[in-house]
Amino acid sequence: MEKTDLFNEIVRIVPIENASIKDFILYSYRKDWGVIYRSFEFKKTIEHSPDIVVKPENTEQIVKIFKLANKQKIPITPYSGGTGLLGAAIPHYGGILLDMKSMNKILEINEDDMSVRVQPGINLEFLNNELKKKNLILGHDPWSRPSATVGGCISTNSVGYRATKYKSMGEQVLGLEVVLPTGNLIRTRAIHKSSMGLDLNRLFIGTEGIFGVITEAVIKAFPLYEKRNILGFTFENFNKGFETVVNLFKKGLYPASLELEEELPRTSNTPATLQIVFEGIEEIVDLQTKMLKGLCEKNGGRENRARSVKKKWEERHIGFQKLAKRLGLDNYVKYHGWDLNVGLPVPFVKEFRSKSLEICRKYNINVLYVGIWDHPGDFFIGIMFTPEQGESAIKAHRELVEEVHKFGGTMETVHGVGLAFKRYMEKEHGIWGIDIMKKIKQALDPNNILNPGKQIDIK
Ligand SMILES: Cc1cc2nc3c(=O)[nH]c(=O)nc-3n(C[C@H](O)[C@H](O)[C@H](O)COP(=O)(O)OP(=O)(O)OC[C@H]3O[C@@H](n4cnc5c(N)ncnc54)[C@H](O)[C@@H]3O)c2cc1C
Repeated sequence: MEKTDLFNEIVRIVPIENASIKDFILYSYRKDWGVIYRSFEFKKTIEHSPDIVVKPENTEQIVKIFKLANKQKIPITPYSGGTGLLGAAIPHYGGILLDMKSMNKILEINEDDMSVRVQPGINLEFLNNELKKKNLILGHDPWSRPSATVGGCISTNSVGYRATKYKSMGEQVLGLEVVLPTGNLIRTRAIHKSSMGLDLNRLFIGTEGIFGVITEAVIKAFPLYEKRNILGFTFENFNKGFETVVNLFKKGLYPASLELEEELPRTSNTPATLQIVFEGIEEIVDLQTKMLKGLCEKNGGRENRARSVKKKWEERHIGFQKLAKRLGLDNYVKYHGWDLNVGLPVPFVKEFRSKSLEICRKYNINVLYVGIWDHPGDFFIGIMFTPEQGESAIKAHRELVEEVHKFGGTMETVHGVGLAFKRYMEKEHGIWGIDIMKKIKQALDPNNILNPGKQIDIK
């Protein structure tokens, strides 16, 4: 179908100002943040413009768009904050780009149920501020909070700073309204628990919009904490800090946020910093703080100055840029980087850390930091390299993934799959795991029009 014919059909569904085929608009949707921050094997070819950008205002319009797209076999890609790091929102095969940010209303705050019903394009920062007015907070707090949306975060099963306590975005979902690729609509029951068979919400959590477009979500809200303590400790090395964290969990102490980080790890004795945040009822927070201090002391942890700890926490949404700048690595043309967030069985974390540093050393790749985030098994490694080192970085990455799988871990716990990690899906899930996903996709999307080419390939 010609672009102008498509435009004419679409503006029968949405107001004319909500659709565009202007080149500069289409061009602005050709990528997500992954292309800025990361360099992948296909960096040059990953960008792709859609044929038309549409900003739907309601579910009915999306249903009609799907009916049209099925008739004409036109791909549809949902796009929200565009902050994804793996190319999942890139309209790889062109077609219709659904910019969901116009569907950004709070529909209901239910204070007794501790939940909020929203349209999916709502911004996290805005939603959190609105909830605070009712003495509630949003549990999800990623680096990208100022730009990411609820729909995008459910679709990547995103993880934030306070996921130790509040868990991933997906675990905060109570109910969803979803337009299926065929244009049919489902609404799951927004209930805190159900034993009525398959939990259909899970089909749309972390599946990057390949099974349906989320048009409404009911998510949990949490009580605004009475007190928040932000604490920082420095340990002689990663292992000492890590053991402290494991002991913390074994005692049943679950902070709101937890990050153990070792910057520029060169030897086994690079100091590691532990940042812990407790929030909740004042007396409980004070008791937790006292117990944490005792555990840290036992492993030689020195408490850091309160001011610098607080500053680090307050600047958490701009942490990456600051670190890159401090290291003189803020030139994305000269340097590329990856953050790998892998999930490991806790007993193998220390061994994996050593192995990952060894692999990066072998390929002469700069390691900016390693650490754990949210849970002792959630290990991260941040690397940076020049374009000339691209091939070596790719080899290092492949070896890291091999090691993760050898240890029984998962290769990504935070950012999703998108286009970038699709090639590892079979290794991660096995042939029959992928077979199930393909069969679900074929059953729900017989014309393969919804976000094709992401996560799995359908012939
Ligand atoms: C500086 C920076 C820091 C980041 N920090 C974190 C972090 O701390 N934790 C973390 O988890 N991630 C982080 N990310 C990655 C990113 O913010 C998350 O993946 C986030 O979940 C993406 O949300 P979004 O609204 O931008 O979605 P998009 O990038 O627009 O889309 C993500 C995926 O969801 C699909 N999608 C979007 N809306 C819908 C919908 N309504 N229905 C169905 N599918 C939909 C898209 O097609 C795509 O597949 C960071 C990114 C940046 C740039």
